[in-house]
Amino acid sequence: MIIRHANAWRVQPGKASRFTGTVAGDSILPATDGVVISTITFEPGSRTHWHSHERGQILSVVAGYGLICTAGEEPRRLRPGDWVWVPAGERHWHGAAPDTHLTHTAISLGTTQWADEVTEAEYAEQPHEHEGESA
Ligand code: MN
Repeated sequence: MIIRHANAWRVQPGKASRFTGTVAGDSILPATDGVVISTITFEPGSRTHWHSHERGQILSVVAGYGLICTAGEEPRRLRPGDWVWVPAGERHWHGAAPDTHLTHTAISLGTTQWADEVTEAEYAEQPHEHEGESA
């Protein structure tokens, strides 16, 4: 079966409890055995709220540049081709860099616990350049 972005959506007001800014997504696999797969595009500057995943999350960066931040650590850059494992229960956020879009596919395991928004000050902690960082 080929899935061709049949379920594209735009963030609705109800999603304001999950994202800052404009985010568009495609549901690839609705919740099946506790697994949700979706591809999400963040417009420049947009990002998730702080949240955690009951059994963890895998992110695959498809296009653009972004950031991921674990609570208590500094934000780290995301580039096309990157894969990320977010451990179960770990408080974090992810989203676009200030001046570029980010598209990632997210494989979320179990339920997602949404929390407070990422403040402008927290978001501004990240560096703006995209190149030259070692892993
Ligand atoms: Mn996440």
